[in-house]
Amino acid sequence: MPQINLKSPITYLKGVGPIKAEVLQKELGLFTIEDLMGHYPFRYIDRTKFHKINQLNPNDLAFSQVLGRLISLQEVGEKKAKRLVAEFRDDTGSIELVWFQSLAWIKKSLQIGSAYIIFGKVSEFNGKLSITHPEMELFQKNSKTTGNLSMQPVYSSTEKLKKFNLDSKGIMQLQLNALELFGKNLQETLPKYIVQEHKLISYADALLSIHFPENQLDLNQAIKRLKFEELFWIQLRILNNKQLNTQKYKGHLFTQVGEKFNHFYSNLLPFPLTNAQKRVVKEVRMDTNTGAQMNRLIQGDVGSGKTVVALMSMLLAVDNGFQACMMAPTEILAQQHYASIQHLIPEDFCTVKLLTGSSTTKQRRVIHEELENGKLSILIGTHALIEDKVKFKNIGLVVIDEQHRFGVEQRSKLWRKNVIPPHMLVMTATPIPRTLAMTLYGDLDISIIDEMPAGRKPIKTVHFFESSRLRMFGFMREEIAKGRQVYVVYPLIKESEKLDLLYLEAGLEFLQREFPLPDYFISIVHGKMPAKDKDFEMQRFIKGQTQIMVATTVIEVGVNVPNASVMIIENAERFGLSQLHQLRGRVGRGAEQSYCILMSGNKLSKEGKKRLKTMVDTNDGFEIAEVDLQLRGPGDLSGTQQSGVLEMKIANLASDQALLSEARQAVIHLFEVDPNLLATKNVLLKEFLSQRSAISWDKIS
Ligand code: ADP
Ligand code: MG
Repeated sequence: MPQINLKSPITYLKGVGPIKAEVLQKELGLFTIEDLMGHYPFRYIDRTKFHKINQLNPNDLAFSQVLGRLISLQEVGEKKAKRLVAEFRDDTGSIELVWFQSLAWIKKSLQIGSAYIIFGKVSEFNGKLSITHPEMELFQKNSKTTGNLSMQPVYSSTEKLKKFNLDSKGIMQLQLNALELFGKNLQETLPKYIVQEHKLISYADALLSIHFPENQLDLNQAIKRLKFEELFWIQLRILNNKQLNTQKYKGHLFTQVGEKFNHFYSNLLPFPLTNAQKRVVKEVRMDTNTGAQMNRLIQGDVGSGKTVVALMSMLLAVDNGFQACMMAPTEILAQQHYASIQHLIPEDFCTVKLLTGSSTTKQRRVIHEELENGKLSILIGTHALIEDKVKFKNIGLVVIDEQHRFGVEQRSKLWRKNVIPPHMLVMTATPIPRTLAMTLYGDLDISIIDEMPAGRKPIKTVHFFESSRLRMFGFMREEIAKGRQVYVVYPLIKESEKLDLLYLEAGLEFLQREFPLPDYFISIVHGKMPAKDKDFEMQRFIKGQTQIMVATTVIEVGVNVPNASVMIIENAERFGLSQLHQLRGRVGRGAEQSYCILMSGNKLSKEGKKRLKTMVDTNDGFEIAEVDLQLRGPGDLSGTQQSGVLEMKIANLASDQALLSEARQAVIHLFEVDPNLLATKNVLLKEFLSQRSAISWDKIS
């Protein structure tokens, strides 16, 4: 038999045959002994405390443990109602134990008259206390079974596993077997100096204590060690990857700030840049002048002025003899970018064109031609930009807006549009909490625009219940009388699309009665409409021909109507926080005071309440993102589902910020001192990376 080690299949373990191994694989994805040991308990229970039967309380949510004697055992009921009922007694009273399944097996294995430790949830039926399907363990004086652990591990299991005796207890037994085999001989996985510097316990101790902690302190140390390790490996991969990219890919050199950039800055820019905008433009300038490829993420709240930063970066490329392009996730957004850029620069200043799905064949032909001969400097568009037919003469910079809407594959295609990959500037209007950014975008450099243009009035947000609806209508009338426009948004969540559409239609009817023609005009936009109709309705609102826009969340991204100053969100409790924030960002774009009214039903979940309160309390997208992360956990946050890096076993990005920073700093420091991990003390790290082929850039960001 070959040497058994952590990587050996679980069948090498006592108690695991091929059949059990297969269910463990299928149900929990456990293949090796290491996998098994990495199946950590999800909670612990105190098995040192015993209850007397006369103290048992059916209102106790926690399980109770009783030491007593099995007095009788009989089958009662017929056919499907057949069950096994036992009397169990201690010196204070008796209780019923009941089984509905595996009757034959239980009858055979229990010994009437013997003492048992039983464990389960107490309930009351017809005035009598009982425990259904208790865990039973024959009581043996001085036995070293696990029944008397003060913190007994509880493992997640499944119905299927339970059929093969792999309930929590069965899994615990396997963990014991594994620990017995390896125990103290487990090799340290992290370099010793890192373990010491971060005051961690050894890997062997951590594994032992995560499964069988002696006390809470012991458990905490194990958790810290394992979390640190998990976060450390992730950061090691990400930052190694970042480093490889910088070494591997040369970047175009933008050596000069030229005529166009300067002219734009001095003569065309209609407003002074905010300090945050200046800082980010400067960061781009520095990045593009290093000889390495830039990979920068710009995070900035809705309305913080990312477009002009993008434009100035593109002018920088043009000044250095390159072309630039900017890709938006929807046609409307692309059109808007195009319009606002045309608005910012005169026609003869530099050639800018728009390419989307609805560009005509003739337009496309011209664009393709001008791209290849270099006449076209800046191309704005949708994913039409990544088609193979679109070939640039010399693309130097790619700007991607609303980053999370693009698939991984699509983005990486833009990389290959030049021999030397273009600089990448990714912009997102969904502020991402720091911990997520360090993980999801850990290999990008991050710029933050954390300042709004001067003179912007913060949006006033209120939360109304149904009883204030008339007040809300009155407010709408006042604002419309002042010449403003109003959005009314309904949720549209996929599973109940039909129902939601009904809400929208009913709401529309109601509004039409409150705001009748010919005094008021209403636009309506929802996802089920043909694109042409949608566009027509949108245009009516943009041109100010309608005062009210009734819509589903299709308007979430990118619609820019500065004259719209009121955002009403119906059933606001059904929206996620980041979505609410995005929607609210549609107003507050002009000089007027803007308002957001969150309408909700009276019954709110605790989470729903917290979401609405957060919206009322703050306009700060980063603060909102943090709350969102706390409420929902990282896996659910928009745009992050695709990322395998978030699949953590024990660390949690919502609660482990400090530890994550510590791990990341450790890796940053490590690469500063020993970029290629050549030192002997780092040999484990080198091995780790060579075993896992580096993740490619386009997989991670
Ligand atoms: P976002 O970051 O959401 O993409 P935009 O770039 O669309 O924001 O900018 C929002 C609005 O603010 C635009 O009308 C833009 O012209 C204006 N804006 C941008 N920067 C400034 C500034 N420094 N001062 C005043 N207005 C600005
Ligand atoms: Mg924008």
